[in-house]
Amino acid sequence: MIQTCDAPGLLPIQSAIEKMSEQICPIVESEQVELDEALGKVLSQHVVADINVPPRDNSAMDGYAMRCEDLKGNDQLLLVGKALAGAPFTGKIKAGECIRIMTGALIPEGADSVVMQENTTVDDNKVTFKQQPEFGNSVRKAGEDIQQGQIVVTKGTKLTAAHLALIASVGVAQVTVCRQLKVALIATGDELTPAGTPLVEGAIYESNRVVLKALLRGFACEVFDFGIIKDDKKSLTEVFTQAGSLCDLVLTCGGVSVGDADFVKEILDQLGTINFWKVAIKPGKPFAFGKLGNAWFCGLPGNPVSSYVTFEKLVTAVLQQMNGQTSIPSAYFVAKAATVIRKRPGRTDYQRGIFYRDEQEQLWVKPNGKQGSGIMSSIANANCYMWLEQEAGDVQQGDSVKIQPF
Ligand code: AMP
Ligand code: MG
Repeated sequence: MIQTCDAPGLLPIQSAIEKMSEQICPIVESEQVELDEALGKVLSQHVVADINVPPRDNSAMDGYAMRCEDLKGNDQLLLVGKALAGAPFTGKIKAGECIRIMTGALIPEGADSVVMQENTTVDDNKVTFKQQPEFGNSVRKAGEDIQQGQIVVTKGTKLTAAHLALIASVGVAQVTVCRQLKVALIATGDELTPAGTPLVEGAIYESNRVVLKALLRGFACEVFDFGIIKDDKKSLTEVFTQAGSLCDLVLTCGGVSVGDADFVKEILDQLGTINFWKVAIKPGKPFAFGKLGNAWFCGLPGNPVSSYVTFEKLVTAVLQQMNGQTSIPSAYFVAKAATVIRKRPGRTDYQRGIFYRDEQEQLWVKPNGKQGSGIMSSIANANCYMWLEQEAGDVQQGDSVKIQPF
């Protein structure tokens, strides 16, 4: 039976994500990697600080360090030395004395405060202060960022550039992360031609693999690119068998719908199991999830926008679960619709939009041109998804719309 676009019985997106999470156990093997190699990987052990950051009290300014007591009813101190970051002043500051101090230099014994140089004048070895500092002025206290023994980054965190900085700041050079996932990528379609070769009548250039590879880079996966496979059961069977034994996750694009040349589902059914097929998502309805050999299987629709959106909204959840990543609720803003937005009830719709603020700081959003699932320019030139709930119909001008900036 051919199902219409918004046929009943499609799996709501949240149920699809729940079904996938129930099935998938996080990978248990972990590996140690250098920080330089850790971007996008998921921590499988907490990172704990062995030291305080900063390790010692130090200056937040270029200026002069002194005992703030000494500037009560007095504005001049004797300059007795200098401290630079990495070259501390080793003596002790006595009453009536100060030292020149640079940002990051240790606060010497006897001193408790710093006055920035813009608030001073210097004449030979006498410093005159235009500011009466409070106790602790411009001093960064030991441990004010991180305290010894503290968990710096928790297990399950996907490491960003900022996390790497934090980990490096406690002197940790290697982290324990979920081992790298092996992901197979297979494009299917007789019409698909690799870029850089001539196009024959009826053919199109293949574009999904390069996009999916780029998106997979965000998860630090090892990608096994099986290339373009013809709509031919024998070839697909061979490649699926190989991919399912080699990888942790097999991603296909195309051939998963109800057309005469759509064999992906049939072969998955023969070689493995289909957990579900068809999700109430637009674009991207003919999405299949299942198991193939040792691997989880996600069959993405071939239309470029569908393949992109189902990767972001469904495959991402699979990768997070496999990596043991702590799940983060989907974030969104609320904007007002600048125009009517057409939407039929029945599927959660991720239309591509452009959001902007007006002079009153009100957030507005409008669809970015045509929304067909083959129109990749609708994503490339947009700046957000307009997240339209499954049962919603048309959105009227001025109505609230959830947006997810890219
Ligand atoms: P299918 O899902 O195989 O029915 O394909 C749906 C549409 O997407 C067809 O117009 C295909 O030509 C196109 N398509 C399928 N796979 C790709 C791909 N890898 N790159 C670009 N377009 C594709
Ligand atoms: Mg096809």
